[in-house]
Amino acid sequence: MSTNAGLFERAQAVIPGGVNSPVRAFKAVGGTPRFITRAKGAYMWDAEGRRYTDYIGSWGPMILGHGHAAVLDAVQKAVRDGLSFGAPTEREVELAEEVIRHVPSIEQLRLVSSGTEATMSAIRLARGATGRSRFIKFEGCYHGHADALLVKAGSGLATFNHPTSAGVPAEVVQHTHVLPYNDLAALEQAFAEHGSELACVIIEPIAGNMNFVRAAVPFVARLRELCSRHGALLIFDEVMTGFRVALGSAQSLYAKAIPGFMPDISVFGKVIGGGMPLAAFGASRAIMSHLAPLGGVYQAGTLSGNPVATACGLATLREIARPGFFSELAKHTAALTHGLHTAAQTAGVPLAVDFEGGMFGLFLAPELPQNYPAVMATDAARYARLFHGMLNRGVYLAPALYEAGFVSSAHTLDDISATVDAARAVFAELG
Ligand SMILES: *Cc1c(COP(=O)(O)O)cnc(C)c1O
Repeated sequence: MSTNAGLFERAQAVIPGGVNSPVRAFKAVGGTPRFITRAKGAYMWDAEGRRYTDYIGSWGPMILGHGHAAVLDAVQKAVRDGLSFGAPTEREVELAEEVIRHVPSIEQLRLVSSGTEATMSAIRLARGATGRSRFIKFEGCYHGHADALLVKAGSGLATFNHPTSAGVPAEVVQHTHVLPYNDLAALEQAFAEHGSELACVIIEPIAGNMNFVRAAVPFVARLRELCSRHGALLIFDEVMTGFRVALGSAQSLYAKAIPGFMPDISVFGKVIGGGMPLAAFGASRAIMSHLAPLGGVYQAGTLSGNPVATACGLATLREIARPGFFSELAKHTAALTHGLHTAAQTAGVPLAVDFEGGMFGLFLAPELPQNYPAVMATDAARYARLFHGMLNRGVYLAPALYEAGFVSSAHTLDDISATVDAARAVFAELG
C-alpha cells in the first residue's frame, strides 16, 4: 500500500515541493501532506485509507460536498457528449444566464478557466475601459498569481513597486498601489493623490486569503463613493465568496447595508465551477463591450466555457439556488463556529470566530483581526498544533492560519458535533 510519506517523497522528485499549488505542501503547519484517493459527501480518504471530515472543500468549490448525485449526472452526461469543441455551446449561455439571474450588477459574463485568469482579465478590462494604468489592491487580499497582482504592502503605509514574488520585475508592478485593508484614511489619501489616474480598485469583500476578514460596511460605502467620483471601476473579487456566502454573493450583503450598492466588475471562480476548472468575470453591458470581439481589450481561451466544466458549474448553481439552501447551510456553519468557540472558551484558549453562509474563519486570538498584520500576528505555533491535533482525529482544517474554512451542504449536524468533540480534546491539550 502507498503511504502519504512515500507518495510525498516520490512527488518531491518530480514536482517542485511535491505539490502543484504551494499551500498543499503543509509548509505553514509542518508534517506530511495527505494524498487523497477519493471523496464523498463531507469526507475525504487518504492513501492510507484514513477518513477525514473535509472543511476545505477544494478551497471552496465543493459547496454541495463531494460526489453530489445531480452534479455527477450532469458531468457524466456532458463527458459522453464531448470533452471540448472550441465552439460556442448552449450551456455557456445557460451558465451566464444563471449567474446574471442572481447577481444584479452583472449584465454580461465571460467564462475563463481559473480565478487567476479572471482577475487578470478584469484588471485589463478596467484599464482598457478607463484608459488608465494605476490600480489599488489591498494588503492580504489574494487575486490569483498574475504578475501585476503579486504585490503586498510593507508596513502600514501605502507602498509602490514591491513585488512579493521573484520573477516579477518592478516595472510590471509600478502601477499597482497597495493599501492596508479596512483603512479609511489610507484610502482617502490614495484617492486624493492619484484619483484621476486610477483604472480600478480590486478587493476581496470578505477576504478569505487572510483567514476571514470582512471589509467594514463604511469602508466599502466610501470606496464605492470614491471610485464613482474619480471614474475608477470597483472590482469585487468574489472568486471565493461568490455563491458561497450567499446566493447573491458578498455584494448582496453589502447591498443590504448600503442602498443601491453594486460593484462595477465582479469576478467569480471556485463555486461556479463546482470543482472543475471554471471562472468568470462580469459587469454591465457597457463595460463588457470593451472586450474582444466587440472592443479593443483582448481576452481568449482554448478551453474557456469548456462543456464539461460548464455542466458541473451549472448543476452546482441550480442546486444551491433551491429555496432555503443558504439558510440551512448557514445554520450548520453557525453550529460549527459556535461549538468550536464554546469548546475553546471551556479550555481557556482564546478563539475568535466568524462566518457567512458556508465560509468561516477561526483565529487563535481574543478578537477578530481587521487587517493582514493582525491576522499574521495570531498564534502560528498554536495553530499548527490545533491543525495536527484535528487531523489526527480525522478532521481536515486549512493547513495554514491565513486560510478560510468551508462547510458544505453534505456536512450533517452529527458531523459537526463530532468535529466539536475532537476540538474539545485538542483545545484541552493546547490550553
Ligand atoms: C482562489 C482565488 C483566486 C485565484 O483563483 P485560481 O482559480 O486559484 O486561479 C483569486 N481570487 C480569490 C479571492 C481567490 O480566493
